[in-house]
Amino acid sequence: MATTIIEPGFIQPPSIEPPFLRQPNATLLFGERSRRLMSLAEGHTMADFLRFMGHLAEAQQHTLDSQAAPVLPDAEQIMLCKDHGMPPLGTQTLRRDSTWREGLSTLLEQVAGQANQTTSAAIARLQTLSATELEAFADRLLGGDYAGMDLAAAPLIGAALQVYWVRLVSALEPDDFTRLDVHTLCPACGSLPTASVVRIGGVEQGLRYLHCSLCESEWNMVRIKCSHCESTKGIAYFNIEGGDDAVKAEACDECNSYLKILYMEKNMAVDPIADDLASLALDILMDEAGYQRIGPNLLLFPAEQDA
Ligand code: FE
Ligand code: FE
Repeated sequence: MATTIIEPGFIQPPSIEPPFLRQPNATLLFGERSRRLMSLAEGHTMADFLRFMGHLAEAQQHTLDSQAAPVLPDAEQIMLCKDHGMPPLGTQTLRRDSTWREGLSTLLEQVAGQANQTTSAAIARLQTLSATELEAFADRLLGGDYAGMDLAAAPLIGAALQVYWVRLVSALEPDDFTRLDVHTLCPACGSLPTASVVRIGGVEQGLRYLHCSLCESEWNMVRIKCSHCESTKGIAYFNIEGGDDAVKAEACDECNSYLKILYMEKNMAVDPIADDLASLALDILMDEAGYQRIGPNLLLFPAEQDA
């Protein structure tokens, strides 16, 4: 039997540094979100909407599971991005391949049976669009250019783009990413966060991570800091009286903006995208108080964003 001599110093103790970036778990993410949405729908005033979103998340998981490994940027490109402090899967630089549109077709087929009249009509409209038109739709959505956009169809495009970016980001190595100079954008894809999460367990206990609206990666940012202007002054927390205290709005008086923050110690099952959808009442409250929301939820485009 061959013997390997282990030199002193070869065995490193496990790292106790928390990760600056948490990549999504592609095999579990959307399935867990689907279960969370179905549970949030129980007794909720928006039960039908949340249940449909639960079906959509389930279809996202199924689509992701059924697709082959994605074509990734080559090693040279990844290294170049890392050296220049740029996201390797940036929405403005990455050339999307056709598999996101194939994923969209699968998604639409799967949710068609559960869709209400408005969404059924949106599905039918999407199914008539050419590849060029779908790419243009995706460009506008990713660029935050919502004026005149088909708001009923946008969440379906958003869901397909999430699947595509999760496939990509989960296939890269932790070492492929670096911190960006701009701490408020996703280090993997350059998108805005939907919400932030204060985590529990191990080295991540009590740490806050911003959750990417597109690729579902999470990046560390210290607590009590504005995730838009990075001010640490004038930060206040809002929630709805008698509402879920696992979800609050972290508001900044320096730039008049807010982002929701979820606390796993209050509820371990919180999911940034699902719990954000289920707490739309908090967005209405914040809007009335004069605060602007920082990041989108790609599964919901309220009419007021259409400006
Ligand atoms: Fe991202
Ligand atoms: Fe701010």
